[in-house]
Amino acid sequence: MSEIRHHVTDAMLAAYAAGSLPHPFAVLVSAHVSMCPDCRAALEAHQAVGGVLLDQAAPVALSGGLKADILSRLDDEFPSEPVYARSGVYPGPIMQTLKGRAPRWKSLGMGVRQDILSENAEGSVRLLYIPPGQAVPDHGHNGLELTLVLQGSFSDETGRFGPGDLEIADEELEHTPVADPGEACICVAATDARLRFRSALPRLLQPFFRI
Ligand SMILES: [Zn+2]
Repeated sequence: MSEIRHHVTDAMLAAYAAGSLPHPFAVLVSAHVSMCPDCRAALEAHQAVGGVLLDQAAPVALSGGLKADILSRLDDEFPSEPVYARSGVYPGPIMQTLKGRAPRWKSLGMGVRQDILSENAEGSVRLLYIPPGQAVPDHGHNGLELTLVLQGSFSDETGRFGPGDLEIADEELEHTPVADPGEACICVAATDARLRFRSALPRLLQPFFRI
């Protein structure tokens, strides 16, 4: 894999570690971290900080029988969620969102295809397949959009993005991503819902709107 040059911001890693990122962005951060040793190390540092905070938190007493109750249930059957590993160009967190299935591509025209993996009040996660040389259809930025490249590459006014690279686009960015020659570009994009944007945005993320 070529070298990753576009990373998750530190503020976003902190928000991810704190569990305060909206689900669509958390999926992309998780997928990038699975491909990027640098961000994995940085995330572990943030998680260590969280662990120290937990260690230092004043204990709160729980009800008397709780410990015995938990111990008595340790051997109970429980329905476990299947865990999916990386498959081809799709990292584990994306396979998790796909629930192990292959992408179901739907044509958007001009050879561009998409598969919407999840869509709810927190926003959407979608796979995009863009043939070489093809521009991404105009979709506008309502709020924040993250794009993670899984295969091939695309370029826009801000640079070139290859496998593992994460582009962070806010509503002020005017850009025209075009898939580079060679392999088709497969990427995964996460957006938050249009109307929820301002209120759902964790304060930790605000610094990069100013950049
Ligand atoms: Zn990274």
